[in-house]
Amino acid sequence: MSNPSLLILAGDGIGPEVMTEVKRVIDWFGAKRDLAFDVEEDLVGGAAYDKHGTPLHDDTMAKALQVDAVLLGAVGGPKYDALDFSVKPERGLLRLRKEMDLFSNLRPAQCFDALADFSSLKKDIVAGLDIMIVRELTSGVYFGEPRGIFEEGNERVGINTQRYTESEIDRVARSAFELARRRGNKVCSMEKANVMESGILWREVVQKVHDTDYPDVELTHMYADNGAMQLVRAPKQFDVIVTDNLFGDILSDCAAMLTGSLGMLPSASLGAPNADGRPKALYEPVHGSAPDIAGQGKANPIACILSFAMALRYSFDQGDEAARLEAAVEKVLADGVRTADLLGEEGVTPVSTTGMGDAILAALDASL
Ligand code: NAD
Repeated sequence: MSNPSLLILAGDGIGPEVMTEVKRVIDWFGAKRDLAFDVEEDLVGGAAYDKHGTPLHDDTMAKALQVDAVLLGAVGGPKYDALDFSVKPERGLLRLRKEMDLFSNLRPAQCFDALADFSSLKKDIVAGLDIMIVRELTSGVYFGEPRGIFEEGNERVGINTQRYTESEIDRVARSAFELARRRGNKVCSMEKANVMESGILWREVVQKVHDTDYPDVELTHMYADNGAMQLVRAPKQFDVIVTDNLFGDILSDCAAMLTGSLGMLPSASLGAPNADGRPKALYEPVHGSAPDIAGQGKANPIACILSFAMALRYSFDQGDEAARLEAAVEKVLADGVRTADLLGEEGVTPVSTTGMGDAILAALDASL
């Protein structure tokens, strides 16, 4: 049997710096856990534009469609701000998401105890928090037609259309229920069925998928505005939240910030399962290319490392090894190791990106 395959697209700014630490972690699993990957690397974003004049070369796109999972660092930077919209670094990422048809975006909001003081909420409200927001990523009001700014009488009107088909709702609901079965077995679906027809359909379809195929999972429905309130009032009531593209965009950012630094937040975007049952998958930290600290060895690699942990769990069915990696990160934080973005306590000297990688590898060694 060949090894599972990974395509690494480190990208721009701090992307290559944090990805260097992920590669060390990948090598560790190959050497110490007999879990080797066939890793290929390529360019995306500004780095691809510099070489090929396009933020994602067709050959790279073809590779992304073939591998078992793609790991991406970050794209963008001031050097590329003046480029035409069609070749901006972000277009490379959008093309990957579109052509891989990644309709289910998973954004965990997990609060490590050692960082509970970083949250803007009271410690007891966030300590131990572990929720997952599943956002529909390829449809809804960001894509619906008609859209545009039109003349109407003697003024202009801006139009966007919230549009969901039953099959689009069905597939993202399934992805949330599957996920819940591997976690706390609870799904809360959020929409605005009180004022939007698309919300009524959303609620009906999610309920039907549940009743037909996932009756063992606890399902509740909530209006998205109440969901936003509940997320900051009592976030620990949730396990998996499933919602549409627009509400998911807002609610996942809100939930993520419950937990502190941008340098800590991983994500996964999943598509339909292939013949072998693995979904098409792209794993990436939530943060961008952080041009203000790029090249200085200050970037926190944890978001990217935790994105690889998600790959272990969701693409490679290695939940125990994912938990080992997450526990190593937790131990390092509990030991007080901090990159500069995590400084809060007095008298702590920050470690570099590599220093954080070293500490996580040492904790992995200690886990054996
Ligand atoms: P950003 O996430 O790059 O940075 C925001 C702030 O958080 C900065 O102060 C940065 O130093 C800090 N930060 C981010 N990640 C960090 C880490 N791992 N460790 C320590 N500190 C970290 O967002 P931005 O500044 O708005 O955007 C910069 C560039 O990144 C832009 O070109 C933007 O378009 C792009 N971007 C890309 C993605 C992506 O690749 N998915 C996402 C967001 C922004």
